[in-house]
This record gives sequence, C-alpha cells and structure tokens, in this order.
Amino acid sequence: MDSMFWNRQVETLERTALETLQLERLRLRIANALRTPLYQKRLFRAGITVPEDIRSLEDVRKIPFTVKDDLRQSYPKGLLAVDMKQVVRVHSSSGTTGIPTVIFYTQGDLDRWTELLARGIVASGATAGDVFQNMMSYGLFTGGLGLHYGAERVGLTVIPVGGGNTQRQLQIMKDFQTTSLHITPSYLLHIHGRMAEFGINLSDLSLKRAYMGAEPHSEPTRQKLQELYKMDIFNCYGLSEMNGPGVAFECHCKADPHVWEDAYIVEIVDPATGEPLPDGEIGEAIFTNLIREALPLLRYRTRDLAFIHPEPCACGRTHRRLSRIQGRTDDMLIINGVNVFPSQIEEVLMSIPEVGNNYMIHLTSRNGLDRLTVQVELYQKLFTGDLSQIDTLKGTIKDRLRASITINAHIELHEPGALPVFEGKAKRVVDERERL
Ligand code: ADP
Ligand code: ZN
Repeated sequence: MDSMFWNRQVETLERTALETLQLERLRLRIANALRTPLYQKRLFRAGITVPEDIRSLEDVRKIPFTVKDDLRQSYPKGLLAVDMKQVVRVHSSSGTTGIPTVIFYTQGDLDRWTELLARGIVASGATAGDVFQNMMSYGLFTGGLGLHYGAERVGLTVIPVGGGNTQRQLQIMKDFQTTSLHITPSYLLHIHGRMAEFGINLSDLSLKRAYMGAEPHSEPTRQKLQELYKMDIFNCYGLSEMNGPGVAFECHCKADPHVWEDAYIVEIVDPATGEPLPDGEIGEAIFTNLIREALPLLRYRTRDLAFIHPEPCACGRTHRRLSRIQGRTDDMLIINGVNVFPSQIEEVLMSIPEVGNNYMIHLTSRNGLDRLTVQVELYQKLFTGDLSQIDTLKGTIKDRLRASITINAHIELHEPGALPVFEGKAKRVVDERERL
C-alpha cells in the first residue's frame, strides 16, 4: 500500500493540519494578489489590505469571486504578480467557451504543480518501468506538458506523442509496449474502432491503465472503455486556470478524484446566489490556487457543476473527493423549456451496449418548437443489417432518453466511423436553432 503514495505525509495529513496549511498558503497568495491592480482594488473593497486580514479559513468567503472574464480583461499581463523575468512558462486555456486566457508560472510554480501529478500517477499504481504515452496535445494547452513532467518525476518512460495520428499512436503503443495513456474519452472511444483497420489486436498491446480527462464523461463511459481495453481508467480533472490537469486525481479506489487540498481550496456554491452548499450537494465548483505565485487566482468560478463527497476514501487520503463533472453552467441546453445537460444524453447512450463509440447532438427549430436529433454510431459487432433490429434499437434509445430527459428525441443510427472524429476535446453539440 505504501508504494501507492508519492507523498504519504501530505496525502494523509490530518484535516486540522491540512487546514492550517491552507490558511498559511492562502495568506501567501493574498500577498501575491495584492500586487496586481485588479485584486488590489477588489480586496481593498472587501476590507482585506494585508494578508493577516484573513484570520481563519472561513474568511476565504470574504474574498470576491474571480471569473473567466477577469482573466480576459487582464490580457495579457494584468494579473501577473511577479517580475516577467521570473516567469519560465506560459500556458493558455483551450478556449472551449471563448477567447483564450493566459497563465504564467515561475519555476517554483511548475515544481509544485508537477508534485501533484506525481501523486496522482503513483496513486494509480504506476511506477518506474511503466511506459507512458501522452496522447493529449502539447503546446499552449496544459494537458500535454502537465502530465509529461509529472510522469518524468515519478520515473516513467514518457513518450510525448501528443494528440492525433491514430495509426502512429497504435504502432507506438505496440512497439514500445505502452502501459499507461493520458487521453480524452472521445479519442479513446474513437481509437478502439480503428484498431482492426491497422491490423492491431488488443493482445498486441500491453495497456494497463489510462488517465482520462479534459472533458466530462460518465461512469458508463468509463465502464465501457475499461471493458473494451481491459485496463483501468482513472479520472483526472483540471483546468488551466488552476495550473492544468491534476487538480483532482483518482486513486486506485476509482471512487472519484481527490482534490489536492494543500494546493487548492475547493468550495461548492449555488451558481445563482454564490452561497456555499454543504458537501454532497451539487453546485458550481470554486477553486483558489494556493501554490502559484506568478498568477494568483482566488475563488475562481469554474462553471463546472459537481459535489464533494462527504465520506472519506478507503485509501486513507484525507483530501476530499470531487464528483464527476455533471455539466457546466454554460453547457446546459434548454430544449422546449426543459433543462438538459449533454452529459445526461451521454450517460444514457453509453449504457446501451449496441451503441458504438461516437455520437452527436443536433438542435434545430421549426415553428417555434425545438427538435432534438441524436446521431449515434452503431457498435459493429452487434449490427447485422437487419432492419427490424435497427428499429428496435432506435426505439430503445428513444425510450431511455425520454425516461431520462423527458424529451422525445429523433434518433439517427450511423455506421461506425460515420460521425466526426475528435482527437482532442469533443464538440458534440450542434445548435442550429433560430434565435428569436
Ligand atoms: P477551457 O476548456 O475552458 O477552454 P481548459 O482547457 O483548461 O479550458 O479546460 C478545463 C475544463 O475542462 C474544466 O473546467 C472542465 O469543464 C473540463 N474538464 C477537464 N477535466 C475534466 C474531467 N476529468 N472531467 C470532466 N470535465 C473535465
Ligand atoms: Zn482514495
């Protein structure tokens, strides 16, 4: 068991000691933040003029929220809290929801972030001797370099392939006996369907585990992928504003990711009122970065909806676990007045075995009524071309979706490989409704 800890002392720190550490580090970050005009103004207004004005951890609630737009408006260097000479790395968010935002790191910031990834990698059971193929894109996106440095620190053999080029990915997996992957769920789903085409069988590969993140996915998706690849899949959550991947990482229990609370303060709030919610209740996740000096971010609104598990994990780590992301406050669809998260549709689809590895959600409107079309790729092995079989499957998908989201969807079935491929973050929703 001890071998599954990178830093047992910190990972199992008693809650009161953990909270003392959080308070100490929060004050350091307040000191950094006070060096930027935006935070100086905001913190002064909230009555915080020196770090000591934060007397207890609860005082974090006196700090006003930071939103994505604050980062955009501070572009490029408005939130930089150190001399540019100290900055050794720049990253940027992938811009899923708009203009990219920029993050700066000092060498110390990178070292502290890397430590968190090392913890996650070791918690999954990986050790020196494991071959790690990083299939997340490198570059400004944090997904590539983040895990890269963490894996090197643990001593894994790192193959920095980056995203895309499925044939080469599979060949490398085979030739180097890759044991561990870092990949998005959409790309992992896609690759499986292409193995036969390149003459690769699962038995040619040595896969043991994958770290999966960068986009929401449901438990049925994990189950399905674990079965397809006969490997363990660990959820890795993060966002560039909080350094990148590894803000929360699953341990061997696979019971949702531990938020490294010595590095982040996590709060769950009601997205409408900003009021705190108790553990167990779903709301918007708010993070304060406790380990970055170059660009402090206090109480950052992620727009990710999740809850915190009230019970401790069986592994012995004291850092609390964040649930799967249930959706983003900004990806909720309103279809004929009903609120629907794409993740609800995914969960239904991935729990039906005949459904293959890709799907799309289309919205159109006519005469003021919205129409939801779900395009689904079939799972080849289960498809014989029998038309009655197709009708039955369409009916099943339609019924299950209606039971979950109360909407009558139009279902289109497609052959494997017919729908758009996503090698990085998927964009599965196409909304072509007329705006009135
Ligand atoms: P953005 O996509 O906002 O441009 P990032 O590339 O930093 O910026 O992506 C961070 C977002 O990706 C998170 O806020 C979350 O919505 C999503 N994400 C990352 N990892 C996971 C995960 N394991 N599960 C669900 N969602 C995730
Ligand atoms: Zn655990």
